[in-house]
Amino acid sequence: MYKDYTLAIIKPNAVRTGKTGPILAMINEAGFEIAAMRMVKLTIPQASLFYEVHKGKDFFNGLIKFMTSGPVVVMILLHTNAVEEFRRLLGSTDPEKAAEGTIRKAFAVSTRMNAVHGSDSNENAEKEANFFFSGIERFY
Ligand code: GDP
Repeated sequence: MYKDYTLAIIKPNAVRTGKTGPILAMINEAGFEIAAMRMVKLTIPQASLFYEVHKGKDFFNGLIKFMTSGPVVVMILLHTNAVEEFRRLLGSTDPEKAAEGTIRKAFAVSTRMNAVHGSDSNENAEKEANFFFSGIERFY
């Protein structure tokens, strides 16, 4: 039934403040199927590799520090047009610009601590899913 998938991460601020359950409820209510899920505390090399595309940007070090500050919940989500549909459910990176009804509008506390990650392309969804679900040690 589902052809497409995306990789989602509930970020440390949201896990720490008990938002995992409400976020999972929003994901389910929006019609996504959770195909895989695990909780992991990223190391600095793992987070740096995951966010490699942002290396050199002024927010990179803060982002890595934040993403390694506590456990995250990683999921593969199934839905038709999963990447695009989940980005819509997420809302804008900057929560002040996020639309009503989106996860980031409800749970983000800042642009950095914006509660949940979602892949931005099918190519990255595949890369990110392999990163977490096929043995990440081979990436560093
Ligand atoms: P996303 O695809 O909406 O998650 O956004 P990006 O891929 O552009 O950025 C990755 C993550 O880096 C975001 O989710 C934020 O946590 C963080 N980030 C992006 N832009 C900024 C910024 O301008 N300032 C800060 N502090 N963090 C940022």
